[in-house]
Amino acid sequence: MRPALLNTLFSPVTTLHGVGPKQDLLLRYLLSREMTPRIADLLFHLPVNVIDRSARPLIRDAAPGTVVTLAVTVERHRPPPPERSRAPYLVYASDESGDVVLTWFRAQPAFLEKLLPVGARRYVSGLAQMFDGTLQIVHPDHVVDEAGLAKLPLFEPVYPLTEGLALGVLRRAVAQALERVPALPEWIAPEVLRRCGFPPFAEALARVHQPQAPADIRPEGPYWSRLAYDELLAGQLALALVRAQLRRPAGTRHAGDGHLREKIVAALPYALTGSQREALAAIVTDLAQPMRMLRLLQGDVGSGKTVVALLAAAAVAETGRQVALMAPTEILARQHLATIAPLADAAGLRVAILTGREKGRERADILARLAAGGIDLIVGTHALIQDDVAFSALALAIVDEQHRFGVRERLALTRKGKAVDVLVLSATPIPRTLVLTYFGDMDVSELREKPAGRQPVDTRAVSMARLDEVVEAAGRALAAGARVYWVCPLVEESAEVDLTDAGQRHAALRARFGDAVGLVHGRMRGPDKDRVMRAFADGDIRLLVATTVIEVGVDVPEATVMVIEHAERFGLAQLHQLRGRVGRGNERSTCLLLYREPLGELARARLSVIRETTDGFRIAEEDLRLRGEGDVLGTRQSGLPGYRLARIEAHAQLLSQAREEAIAILRDNPKLSGERGAALRCLLYLFERDEALPLLGAG
Ligand code: ADP
Ligand code: MG
Repeated sequence: MRPALLNTLFSPVTTLHGVGPKQDLLLRYLLSREMTPRIADLLFHLPVNVIDRSARPLIRDAAPGTVVTLAVTVERHRPPPPERSRAPYLVYASDESGDVVLTWFRAQPAFLEKLLPVGARRYVSGLAQMFDGTLQIVHPDHVVDEAGLAKLPLFEPVYPLTEGLALGVLRRAVAQALERVPALPEWIAPEVLRRCGFPPFAEALARVHQPQAPADIRPEGPYWSRLAYDELLAGQLALALVRAQLRRPAGTRHAGDGHLREKIVAALPYALTGSQREALAAIVTDLAQPMRMLRLLQGDVGSGKTVVALLAAAAVAETGRQVALMAPTEILARQHLATIAPLADAAGLRVAILTGREKGRERADILARLAAGGIDLIVGTHALIQDDVAFSALALAIVDEQHRFGVRERLALTRKGKAVDVLVLSATPIPRTLVLTYFGDMDVSELREKPAGRQPVDTRAVSMARLDEVVEAAGRALAAGARVYWVCPLVEESAEVDLTDAGQRHAALRARFGDAVGLVHGRMRGPDKDRVMRAFADGDIRLLVATTVIEVGVDVPEATVMVIEHAERFGLAQLHQLRGRVGRGNERSTCLLLYREPLGELARARLSVIRETTDGFRIAEEDLRLRGEGDVLGTRQSGLPGYRLARIEAHAQLLSQAREEAIAILRDNPKLSGERGAALRCLLYLFERDEALPLLGAG
C-alpha cells in the first residue's frame, strides 16, 4: 500500500484552484494521462525555459527584443475611438529618459484604468519592441505597484503547453502543487548525496519550478539532476528487485531432450541461419541454468525471430511445461499463430490463441484447457494477463515487440507461473543504455544475418506530383502478378482523418483496379481485419491499402511492392519497419516513398538515409542522431522511455550511478527494511515503480 505520506501528491489536480474540468482535459493531454493527472504528474512536468525579468533599464536603454522591467509614471490613456473598436487600447507612460507605449488589444477599459491610474508609478514587465521609433510593450506580462514589485518573480519558468492551456494557469497550478509537497524521508545514501552534491528532493523540485537563476532549470544542473537521479534510482531498484527474484528453485530446468525441436527443424522449408542457431543455443543454455533467463532477442525485421521463439517454446514443452507468447496487437498474434501452427502440428505441439476476440464458450474452453495443461503454447495479446487466465505450468514468457509493454505487464505474465523465464523479441536495435533503463541487466542475442536468398529492396523517393506515374507502375506490377502494399499515414490526433485518407485512396484505387484492391485499418473489427489480411496473404486481394496497422511484423512473403504515402511524416524506424514488409521472399522488391513538397530538412535527411541503407542497426544509429534517443522507441521528445524526468543527453552518467546504488541497496538491505527501507519504498511509490514490492512481502 502506498504510504499515506504521499496522499497529497497523488490527489487529483482538480483539487487545485483554477483547475476545473476543462483544464483537467487539457492537462490529461499535455501530461499524456488517460485519467485526471495527479499533483505529482504536474510537478514532474518541468520547465523548458526561463523568462529573465531581472533587466531593469531606463526606457532609453531598453533593448528591443528583450524582456525588461520598467519603472514608469503613467501619462495618459488612449482608448480606441468608438467607430474603430478593434483598434488597440494605448497607455502612454514615461521615465526620466523617455516614453513607452503600452498596448492592449480587446482590452477592458475599466480594468486598465484601475491598473494604471494616470500619474501613478508602476512597474511594467514584458517584451520590449520598437514601433515607429517609440518603445512599445504589447500586452505586458506584469503590471504591478511598489508592493507588487517585491513579489514579482525575476525568473519565470516557461513550460511546454498545449493549445487552450495558458501559461499563467499552469504556473498558478504548479505553485499550489508545490505547497502540497510533504516532508519526505531522504532515500539517497548520504555518501551519494555528498558526492553528487544533490539538494534535498523538495528543494530540488521547488528550485526547478521557481528558479532563482536561469541556470536552475538546466537538466545538467543540481536540481533537475537530483530529480532525474531519484527517478532513475526508482527504476533501477525496481528492476533489481525483479532480478533478485530470478533464482530458480533447485531441480527445475526448462529445456528438454530436443525431440520436439528436431521435428520442427525437420519440417522447416529452409535451413536456420547461423545467427538463428547461435541465438537458440544461447536460449537453451539459459533454460538449463539454475538462474532464470532474462534475454532479449534483437533482430531486424525479417531476420526470422519467430522461428527462434517457436524452437525455444518447443524446448520448454519438451519438459511438459507451458509457454506464453504475447504480442502487442491482434494482427500480430494471429500472424504468429499462422506461422507457428503448421510447424507445431508437425511436431505435435498443442497451440492455441487468446485475444480480446475469444469470448464466451470459446474463451472458457481455452482457459479450461490451459489450466489443465492441454495447451503447450498459447499465443495472444494483453488478454493473456487477465486475472482469470491460469496455467498449469507456465515456464517461459515470450514477449514480442516489448517496448510497447511495460514492466508491469511483463511481471503480470511471469507471475502466472513459477520461476518463469523471459524472452523478449525486438525488431529495434536498442542501445545498451536503453536496455539498462528498460530491462535492467538483460542478456542480448542478435540476429545479424538475413535468411539466405533475400534481395535488397529497391527504394526510391517520388514526389506526390508524380502520383499518376506511381499508380501506373502499381498497375504494371499487379498485371505481372505482384502483391502491393499502399500505406497511408495515421494523421496525428485524428483517427477520423486517418480513415478518410486511407479510405479515399482505397476508393480511388478500387475505381482503377477493381476487386483486387482491399483496405485494412486500425479501427476495423478484429475479424474483419483478419479476413482482409488473409485475403491478401492468399492473393485474393493483391493491392492492400493500409494504415500503419501493418507496421509491425506482418508477413506476406509474396508482397514485393510497398508504396508509402506521405513518407515525410514517418520516422526512420517506422519507415524501416514498413519497408521490411517487402523483400521477404525471393523476388526483387520495390519501395516507393511518396512525399509531399516542400520537404523539411529533417524529412529530407530521413528519406535519404532510408534510400541509402537497409541495415536496421545503421538506421537506428542515424535515427538516434537525427531525433534523439527516446524516439528510437517511438516515445516522446528526448525523454527516456518510461521516464519523465531523466534525459539521455544530460543524465546518462547518473544511470550507472543509480544502478550501482540499487545493487548496493539490495545487497545490504534485500528486504528494504528499517528506516532507509521505508524511505526507498516511498521512492518506489512516488515514481510508481512499486510493481515489484509485493514480491518482497511486508517491510
Ligand atoms: P521477424 O524477425 O521480422 O519477426 P519473421 O520471424 O516474421 O521475422 O520471419 C520473416 C520471414 O522469414 C518468415 O516468412 C519466415 O518464415 C522466414 N524465415 C525465417 N527464418 C528463415 C531462414 N533461416 N531462411 C529462410 N527464411 C526464413
Ligand atoms: Mg516478427
